[in-house]
Parts: sequence; structure tokens; C-alpha cells
Amino acid sequence: MIDRRSFDSDLGETEEESLVPERVLIIGSGPAGWAAAIYAARASLEPLVYEGQETQENWDLGRPPLGQLSITTEVENYPGFPSGNLGEYLQDALADDRKHMLSPHKGEGVSGPELMELMRQQAINFGTRTVLEDIVDVDFSGRPFKLKTSGGQEIEAHSVIIATGARANYLGLESEKRFKNMGVSACAVCDGALPRFRDRPLVVVGGGDSAMEESDYLAKFASKVYIVHRRDEFRASKIMAERALNNPKIEVKWSTVIDEVLGDDEKGVTGVRLRSAKDESQTEELEASGYFAAIGHTPNSDFLKGHLEMNEKGYVKWTVPFRTNTSVEGVFAAGDVSDDNYRQAITAAGTGCMAALDAERWLGSQGLH
Ligand code: NAP
Repeated sequence: MIDRRSFDSDLGETEEESLVPERVLIIGSGPAGWAAAIYAARASLEPLVYEGQETQENWDLGRPPLGQLSITTEVENYPGFPSGNLGEYLQDALADDRKHMLSPHKGEGVSGPELMELMRQQAINFGTRTVLEDIVDVDFSGRPFKLKTSGGQEIEAHSVIIATGARANYLGLESEKRFKNMGVSACAVCDGALPRFRDRPLVVVGGGDSAMEESDYLAKFASKVYIVHRRDEFRASKIMAERALNNPKIEVKWSTVIDEVLGDDEKGVTGVRLRSAKDESQTEELEASGYFAAIGHTPNSDFLKGHLEMNEKGYVKWTVPFRTNTSVEGVFAAGDVSDDNYRQAITAAGTGCMAALDAERWLGSQGLH
């Protein structure tokens, strides 16, 4: 267990072991986690954030440290970051060893990785400590709560804020698995600029904001982008749908599903076979060097199964209206892991703030503040 008095902030190192449980332990490092940390730190609760491990598995599963915003480009809808040259400010605001994440600024607004680095730095500035590990198991049956880290350590905490977010879904086709990293991806921003996708036709499946955003992004590199959507209207917001529909490089295949991702071991993805959702006998093959899944998300809550109430999709349930309380007293949930509806950076940050305030009040009521 970690002694919060001797913890070397940001480095994940301890000088000595101690039996003092953490007062607020935060799991997850997206907007919900950092907003919770900022509020808890400013309440002198010295929060400890488990940021997640920088492993290939976490990246492959779409749950890297700093969350989904770390694998997106421009963030146009987070208040407070209008277009403008943020370059100088970012150079000044962030620690030197975190600047490699930044892209050169040419007058555009903030990017996802930059926004996350800024939130992280803000939390650290107020005394948040961070560890680059996952929490892999929990025991909420008694207090203080017990949690196991990916490094095999056991840690105790009086209160826990779960902010582990959600990850991208795939259709589940064998051919999707076979060509993963050989043309199959769920992250245009991470992979779209790779040589194999340049000046070639690409396919995006889905009809929500993610599908629009990914298609728009990919159209910068691809010769053409097909959006394959199972219905005849988009779920996406009007502004994003119109941007995609008005892009001359984007063509929509309405009421169509992916039957198979086509390819071979040498070239990877070479195309897709489509099937009409209205007449299953109708199929069509498209040539494409890439296939991008943009069909929603799954909450990162596996390690909590059996320990907390969740809905049928695995999202952690809030048990008190307009509060971040979960079914276990002293455990709170914030952000996409508990939100299958809004799933925005700002709602995640908002609920992260709520969770910190809820935890602070609860600790006070227990005489633990
Ligand atoms: P989403 O809104 O849940 O949309 C998922 C899309 O995938 C839907 O169109 C759905 O079809 C389709 N789909 C799901 N399962 C499928 C399957 N098995 N086969 C074929 N199609 C399938 O998810 P999202 O687009 O990832 O967006 C999630 C949230 O993030 C939303 O609240 C969105 O506004 C937000 N977001 C915002 C931005 C931005 O503002 N810049 C960018 C990305 C995402 P149906 O429509 O038929 O159900």
C-alpha cells in the first residue's frame, strides 16, 4: 500500500510502505478522472490516480492512458478552446517530458491529446499523484476497500472513483480479427495517415458521430471513403452528418451491412463484401485498403463485475438520481463507464467533478476527510 506522504508525484515511486489507506483513489485518466482529481486535490484529499498502463494490449483494446481523447484529433466542442494559437501556451503549461505528445500548432483549436495533457497537468499542479498502472481487481465487501494493481500490489482506499471510460466496438467478424493491424482499425486518427491508407479507397462502418468524424478525417488521405450504414438515416448530429454528406470524397452505402472483410495474408485488407439490409440476397464487393469500425463502445468495467450494480451493457449504475453514488457506499462512478447516453468529454468532466464532491461529502460524513 502506498504512503501518500512519501509518494513521489508523477513517477509512481514510493520511498516506504505504510498502512495508511488512500482517502480518494481514482481509476482512469480521461476527462472524468482528471476533473475528479482536480476537485479532490483542491479539497486537500491528495487523490491518487491510476492512469492505466502504456501496454500494447491497452492500445489494441482502445483503452490507453488518457482515454479516448488521446486517440482523437481536434476537439471542437469542449468549451474554452476556440480556434487560436495555443502553441505557446502549451509549451508553457506542460512539463518538458510530456511535450512529445503535442503536434505543431498552426492556429487551430485544441487537440484531444493536448486537452488531456492539460487536465493531467492541472490535477498534478494541485497535488494529485499518479501511477501508470491498471487496477485489475477490487474487493468492495469491507472497508477500507482493497484494490489490486497490474503490478501485483494491493492498495487500500476509503473512497474510490471509477472513471475507466469505454472502448470501441467491432462487429465480431472473424475477418475483422484476421486483418487487425493489416487494414482493420477502430481508430482513424491513430492509423489513418499510414501509407497503406493513402490515396486508396477506405470503408467506415457506422452511422453515428464517430463514423462521421472518422470518415471526414480519412477523406484527407484516402482517394475515397465509403460509409456503410445499416439504416437509411444517420444517428449522427446534423452538423457532423452534413459535413460528411457534403464531402465529395465520401459516399454513403445506406441500409447496408458488412458481410465480410476481404483480403489475404500478404496485402491485408483488399475490400469488403456488403449485403443489403433490405434484401439479403443482394451483395456487392468494394475495393478498399482499410476498414474502420465506428459502431459504438463498451464500458471498461470488466474488473468490476460482481462487485457493483451495472446495466445490461456493463455500464456502472448510478443508484441515486443526480448523484454519482454506485451500489456500494463510498464508491462513485463518473464519465463514460457510467454513461451510455451523452458520452462527451464535457459530460465526463462534469460527472468527474460531481464524483469528487460526492466523495468529499461522504468522507466528511464518515469522519475521514
Ligand atoms: P453511437 O452514437 O452509438 O453510434 C453507433 C453507430 O453504429 C450507429 O449508427 C449504429 O447504428 C451503428 N451500429 C452499432 N452496432 C452496429 C452493428 N452491429 N452493425 C452495424 N452498425 C452498428 O456511437 P458513436 O458514433 O461512437 O458516438 C458515441 C457518442 O460520442 C455519441 O454521443 C456522439 O455524439 C459522441 N461523439 C461526438 C463526437 C464529436 O462531437 N466530435 C465525435 C464522436 C462521437 P444505428 O444508428 O442503426 O443504431
